[in-house]
Amino acid sequence: MIDRFSNIKFTVNEYYIMAELLKASYKMEAILDGEDEDLDSIEPAQREQVKSQYHEFITLAKALAARVSSINDFVNFGTSYDTKPEGEREQYDSAMGKRVRNLASVQNGEEFIALEGEETLAAFETIKQTDFYKYALARAMEHRDYLQQIFDTQTSKVEDDINNLLGDSSKSNVEMVVLPPEFFGDPQAINRTGGNNRISAAFPRAYFERDVKGLTATAMLHEIFHTEIPVDRSDFQSEEEYNQYSYINHALVELSANYEIGMRLCGLQSYFDPRMSVHKEDEMTPARGKTYPYFLMYKNRNSNNVLQLVS
Ligand SMILES: [Zn+2]
Repeated sequence: MIDRFSNIKFTVNEYYIMAELLKASYKMEAILDGEDEDLDSIEPAQREQVKSQYHEFITLAKALAARVSSINDFVNFGTSYDTKPEGEREQYDSAMGKRVRNLASVQNGEEFIALEGEETLAAFETIKQTDFYKYALARAMEHRDYLQQIFDTQTSKVEDDINNLLGDSSKSNVEMVVLPPEFFGDPQAINRTGGNNRISAAFPRAYFERDVKGLTATAMLHEIFHTEIPVDRSDFQSEEEYNQYSYINHALVELSANYEIGMRLCGLQSYFDPRMSVHKEDEMTPARGKTYPYFLMYKNRNSNNVLQLVS
């Protein structure tokens, strides 16, 4: 492992896994039927068994939801979303996402109770006994070991490149909170508390390893670079300003993690190889082009003829 990443931890958090599983119940049947091609599917021989385990899991969760309001909020997220008026959906979705992601930093029952209450904790403990939950947890733990192993072996190849680009002074305090890759897709940088950054890490192989070897490690670097160049809503006066900066910020992260570093990590020849853009391809293309000259200035900030290189 390279030194700037020696503080990075790969973990699983049971409170977080449980809340995400409950919140995803509106789409779980489709996932179990293998309808989402971006996710790692369950072995066909195991599928029927996992489906019946899920049936038991969700029946129990719904019974508990009848008397525990937090469980009801999680389990009925999809239905509540659909019944909200158009204008309120985005806000509801982001508030609920944030509420669940807050659980990724919870370390014990007391901290959990402070956020979601005692009854919810008791309900979580009950649902943890189901075979479906145990399956999801075991898969998250296997995936954690896998992600850690490829991160450690593959990022060492680009150590000098990363230090040249970002400077070699800082260490990343990042925790990759790993989810079972059968049920979750898009990774994202989540809450920051006390100088620690968390990344919600699913990284399904079906998606990240379909075209290019090394894309999973690159995608992890992408999320880590987001934590090194963060966007804080409170720094901006208006939503519009914030959105504009987020857009440019994302382009910078793509240019540095996916293109500058990722293409070396993956052994690709062409700088803008389209396979390296892991998400938002269509939206990002114009931002990437506009941001590129500034990115070159940043990249060459220590050389004497920065402007010459850009023109
Ligand atoms: Zn991103």
